[in-house]
Amino acid sequence: MRRILVATSNAGKIRDFIGAARVHGVELDLLPDYKQIDPPIEDGDSFEANACLKSEYYSRHVPGQLVLADDSGLAVDALGGAPGVRSARYATDENGYTGNDIDDRNNALVLERMAQVPDGTRSGRFICVLALARDGATLATFSGKAEGVIMRSLRGDNGFGYDPMFYFPEIGKTFAELSAEEKSQFSHRGAAFRKFLDWADSKLGA
Ligand code: IMP
Repeated sequence: MRRILVATSNAGKIRDFIGAARVHGVELDLLPDYKQIDPPIEDGDSFEANACLKSEYYSRHVPGQLVLADDSGLAVDALGGAPGVRSARYATDENGYTGNDIDDRNNALVLERMAQVPDGTRSGRFICVLALARDGATLATFSGKAEGVIMRSLRGDNGFGYDPMFYFPEIGKTFAELSAEEKSQFSHRGAAFRKFLDWADSKLGA
């Protein structure tokens, strides 16, 4: 496979990508100088729109190279699909919070909003859309989902974001209780990444 650059600075996503790439024997690099590039405004109204917006934007900074971007989040049924595309900024949107521990604040807010929601109606899913672009044009997108249940308290120390509140019944663990390799096997990001690899095998060659 040709060299693929991943455009993200999210340490949790990087850990997931490294786990997934290791499982599949693929090498991924991070976009060089990512932090020096002003981020685009993620104002799309879907994961796909935001993933395309990011991959197209960053690919303009590395002419001729393939750039993969991830947009993802948690959709909770009892909250009408929230936090959804606003997952990274849920507490910012709701309370104006902008501190460093935003993941903790987001988790606290979802737990609070879910406090009165009865067992049996606490379903939710992680969604990930990966977009591959070159020279400002999207070549393809790949999506993945993981269905789970929203916990009443946080559990597990691995992972990032909403992982500690996301119980995955298939293996009886939260996503924050998984190794990087297990998360790649069961997660929305791993599922999208496998679709990307299939596509890359047929379109880009080995
Ligand atoms: P994005 O960077 O705009 O795509 O925001 C993604 C946000 O969704 C993250 O900051 C997390 O809050 C949440 N998220 C996405 N994927 C995961 C995951 O695998 N585990 C936990 N939280 C996730």
